[in-house]
Amino acid sequence: MADVIDQANELQEMRIAHQIENRNNERLINTGRCHYCDSLTGDRCFCDVDCRDDFEFINRAR
Ligand SMILES: [Zn+2]
Repeated sequence: MADVIDQANELQEMRIAHQIENRNNERLINTGRCHYCDSLTGDRCFCDVDCRDDFEFINRAR
């Protein structure tokens, strides 16, 4: 049984490491415009969480 738990823990750690890696890759340059709908945002990369979520969804789907 211990082996199964070890494997599960290992898999979980790999998954977390991968998520962190992806997050770093997705770090966006602030252009003053929403990366999704191109609206002016000032100092943010997206105008709201909906735009951010949609942008991330599209990127993930690629
Ligand atoms: Zn937007």
